[in-house]
Amino acid sequence: MSYDSNNIFAKILRGEAPCVPVYEDATTLAFMDLMPQAEGHVLVLPREAAATLPELSDAAARDCIAVVTRLATAIQAATQADGVFVGQFNGAAAGQTVPHVHFHIVPRHAGRGLREHGAVRAETADLQAVAQRIKARLAV
Ligand code: AMP
Repeated sequence: MSYDSNNIFAKILRGEAPCVPVYEDATTLAFMDLMPQAEGHVLVLPREAAATLPELSDAAARDCIAVVTRLATAIQAATQADGVFVGQFNGAAAGQTVPHVHFHIVPRHAGRGLREHGAVRAETADLQAVAQRIKARLAV
């Protein structure tokens, strides 16, 4: 898939569109999903321009997974979840809606369902509040 540099995540990575960040370093950015399937739903992106995981360099994939692992632990603790879902979609046929590779981290509570994928926009203040809790857990 050719890379569309006008996709919304490319704009966020360039600082041209807003996000509620939870973590960033030289190769990776993580922010709150705007339409979370559960409170604490975070997206982790490589800065490298790649639409799908098979198109991403091994080095960027390794960096991303290291951040996903750290964040999954912090998110589970911050939301007091029973488990944590980590997943990603490659291509529209697989359910991908934003063509910049990203990992979803969604905390799961036993017996509690998920909201629909990308359906209901959260309040920025609520996203900022949970981001603060996640960042506090990352710091310990
Ligand atoms: P996917 O279907 O894996 O491409 O998922 C894209 C995800 O990005 C969905 O969960 C959306 O809720 C989320 N999303 C879309 N636009 C934004 C945005 N501007 N900021 C944060 N998350 C977004």
